[in-house]
Amino acid sequence: MPGNGDDLYGALAERVRVDRRRFLGLVGAGTGVVVLGACSSGGGSAAKRPPSSTLPKTTSGPTTTSAPPVPGSQGITADPFTLGVASGDPRPESVVLWTRLAPEPLTADGTGGLAGSDIKVLWEMASDEAFDKVVVSGIEVATTAFGHSVHAQPHGLEPDTWYHYRFRVGSYVSPVGRARTMPSDDATPDQLRIAFVSCQSRTAGHWTAYDHLAEDDLDLVFHLGDYIYEYPGGEGPTKVALDHEPQTLADYRVLYASYKRDPKLQKAHQRAPWVITWDDHEVQNNYADETPDHAKDQAAFAARRTAAYQAFWEHQPVRIAPPAADGSLDVYRTVRFGRLATFFVLDGRQYRTDQVCGDKVPTSASSCDELDDPDHTMLGTKQEAWLAKGFQAVDTTWTVLAQQTVMKALVFGDVILNVDQWDGYPAARSRLLKSIDAAGLENVVVLTGDIHAAGAADIRLPNADIKGKVVAHELVGTSISSPGVAAVGEAFDLASIGIPYANFVDHGYGRCTITPRRWTAEFVTVDTISEATSPAQVDATLEITAGTAGLRRV
Ligand code: FE
Ligand code: CA
Repeated sequence: MPGNGDDLYGALAERVRVDRRRFLGLVGAGTGVVVLGACSSGGGSAAKRPPSSTLPKTTSGPTTTSAPPVPGSQGITADPFTLGVASGDPRPESVVLWTRLAPEPLTADGTGGLAGSDIKVLWEMASDEAFDKVVVSGIEVATTAFGHSVHAQPHGLEPDTWYHYRFRVGSYVSPVGRARTMPSDDATPDQLRIAFVSCQSRTAGHWTAYDHLAEDDLDLVFHLGDYIYEYPGGEGPTKVALDHEPQTLADYRVLYASYKRDPKLQKAHQRAPWVITWDDHEVQNNYADETPDHAKDQAAFAARRTAAYQAFWEHQPVRIAPPAADGSLDVYRTVRFGRLATFFVLDGRQYRTDQVCGDKVPTSASSCDELDDPDHTMLGTKQEAWLAKGFQAVDTTWTVLAQQTVMKALVFGDVILNVDQWDGYPAARSRLLKSIDAAGLENVVVLTGDIHAAGAADIRLPNADIKGKVVAHELVGTSISSPGVAAVGEAFDLASIGIPYANFVDHGYGRCTITPRRWTAEFVTVDTISEATSPAQVDATLEITAGTAGLRRV
């Protein structure tokens, strides 16, 4: 979905106003919802998939029980921990610890004020906040090649255990973060608490939701994309230090630094491990694989995407290998919480075919033959096969897809709201839903961002429409700050297409309590992003009972 200031918003709102009467007429007259495109199975696609990069590897030096000495200042003369700390992608024996050294984070050359040499950094994990009991520590080399970012991967940690962590260089000590390991794969935990967030346009306002998220007692936070936006400018405390759209690695580093300096975001990262995927704005609005939003950007796009992918890797606490020689990044992966939940973290951007029929908002189904093309893919052949195989191996109560764009069909008569979503890839969506059903999975939850609105819906065979067997339950989180599309909420009768809850106005996040018996989803909204702080409340609560298909509003 486009972000702030994007023409597509205006176009959509205008079309909604013009066609509102017709849309409502169609739905009211019982015209029903068009089942989109071909319900092809198998087939696969000829997606442009670059060669796979290497498997994740442990980059840390050996973990020791006797602390290595703190490295000297190595020429650093100001606090290098301006971008905070973060942890992510936990396993039973490990969790990734991240920081990026940047004493001058907004310098236009993207060096963070550290041009020149690689720098040694000490990382420490302790069982207490005062670091009297350091459990493991090690030295990482923060290289100039990767923006002096650090991705320490300690190993040998206790499962299902909270730790404190920090980094040190010379006399400089980072903020302290909290991180936890996952329970053993065969453990049977009673409960898991997660939040899911998306779409935090810096220039749109204050991230007041993070003040509340940071106070929640969470085990994991999922970020579903649009962590940054490519838009420059802004005002006051929500200004970004770019006056043009990013093109180079230096530009994207400055953009990430502008975002990462936010104290609310830093605090939210410090409180729990995050699992992060991306959507379009980490590169450019509505890009698809190697195709930019606008044809005029094509010539420079490959280099731009490569720069953006590297900057993503440098700035996130991800357990994935650095970019491959061809610039690709293996973002899709799994996270597991004992026998309670398997999370499939998806990449719906890097391998997708270009949006159908010019990516018009909205699109007329009857005049878009491309919708029938079974080769159109959201995930690409390789990821799609990986996911289907992964479904077959699930041995946890809950199966979760942490992914970008709305899966539920948002189709009103002949009108498809947004073909950038799964609605534009009906054959791929049908294959995905069939693979869930074929694996016999019962308790499937889809976590979604992108649309800047909160919502929930059952996902039914064959193509996420209003009739058919429920095979999954979608929870869509509203944006942290990016502008909503209130006109859509006003124009459409969402209940008529099987959406029991939607909020197209407010900002906030999703918060879930997951047990072996029940999934409880709370949609948290804040009153304002125009001020530095805001009250928050639970706007709606929905439940899924394990073994019983269907969302229930409570
Ligand atoms: Fe967004
Ligand atoms: Ca998006």
